[in-house]
Amino acid sequence: MILNHKFDLGFFPTPLHQLKNLSKKYAPYNIFIKRDDQTGLASGGNKTRKLEYLIQEALDNGCNTIITAGAQQSNHCRQTAAACAIANLKCHLMLGGIAPKKYNGNLLLSHLLGVEIHFTGENRKGEDIKNLKQQLELEGKKPFVIPYGGSNFTGALGFVNAMKELKAQLIVQNLKIDYLFFASSSGGTQAGLTLGNDLYNLNMKLIPIGIDKSETQGMSLEEMVLHIVNEGKQLLKIKSEYNLSDVKIINAYNEAGYGVITENEKAAIKELAKSEGIILDPVYTGRAFYAMMDYLKKKKIPSKANILFWHTGGLPANFYYADQLM
Ligand SMILES: *Cc1c(COP(=O)(O)O)cnc(C)c1O
Repeated sequence: MILNHKFDLGFFPTPLHQLKNLSKKYAPYNIFIKRDDQTGLASGGNKTRKLEYLIQEALDNGCNTIITAGAQQSNHCRQTAAACAIANLKCHLMLGGIAPKKYNGNLLLSHLLGVEIHFTGENRKGEDIKNLKQQLELEGKKPFVIPYGGSNFTGALGFVNAMKELKAQLIVQNLKIDYLFFASSSGGTQAGLTLGNDLYNLNMKLIPIGIDKSETQGMSLEEMVLHIVNEGKQLLKIKSEYNLSDVKIINAYNEAGYGVITENEKAAIKELAKSEGIILDPVYTGRAFYAMMDYLKKKKIPSKANILFWHTGGLPANFYYADQLM
C-alpha cells in the first residue's frame, strides 16, 4: 500500500482529546482536538505529515537537494528545513519579500536549521523555483522540488494516512465525530482529509476554513483541492465522483487576507489558551478556530454534535506577530 512508503519525521499518532472546559462552555456541543501541533518536527505542524511522503519521493528519485517556497513566516518551509536536516538533504527556501534586518519566528528557525534562504520579492508561491532548479542542475546537484505548501498528491497522502490514524483513535475512544473544522490554505490538507474521510468511511462533515483567497499556479484553492482529489482517487481506488461542491471552502472569515491579523484571530487564540492551555497560531488555526466558535455561538450546527478541531500547528508565528497580539 502506498501509504506505508514514507520517511519517518514525526511522532504519531498525535493526541486526540476532548476540550473539556470549552465543551462545558458551549454545551451541549462536545468539542475535541487533534494535536498536529505536537508532531515533534521543530515545533510541529501539519506539514510534517506531507513531508514524510515528499521526502521519501525525493530519496526514491536519488535527489540530494530540496527546493521549496513560501512566505517568510511559512510553517511549511520551517518544517521542510527540519526534515532536510534529518534526511541529510541540502535545503533551499525561496521566501517572498526582501531580507529583514532581524529574523524572527519561523524565519529564524529555518535559518537555525541550516538552510540556504533566497528572498524572492513579490513571488511568495514558488514562481522562481524553475530558475533555481536549473542553476543547481548546472552545478551538478540533484534538486527535488516540493511545491508551495507541500500540496500535491504525494503530500496529501499524509492526510489520507492521518484519517486512518484518526479512525483507529475513534475506535479506541468509542467516539464518532460529526463535524471537522480545519484551516485550508494550499489545499493538500483538505484534499487528503477529503479522500481519507471516504476511504475510511468516517462520514464526517468537513468544514474547511479558507485562509488565503489568492490563486496558486493559476488555480483557485477549491480548484486546486479538486485537482489533487481527482488525482488521488484513482491511485487510492476510490469510486466516488468529486466536483467543486465537494471541496467547498468557507471564505467568510477570510476578508482581511492572508497573514493579516484581526481581533478575531486574537480572540480565538486567547480563548483556547485561557480555557485549555493550548496555543493556536495567528495566521491559520486562529482564524479557523474563530470560525468554529462563531458557528457554535450562532448554532449553525445541530446541538449535541461531536465536533473536532484539527490543530495544524504554527506556534512560531505568534512571536513574529507579537505586536498585533498584545
Ligand atoms: C500550511 C498550514 C495550514 C494549511 O494547510 P494546507 O495543506 O496548506 O491547506 C494550516 N495550518 C497551519 C499552521 C499551516 O502551517
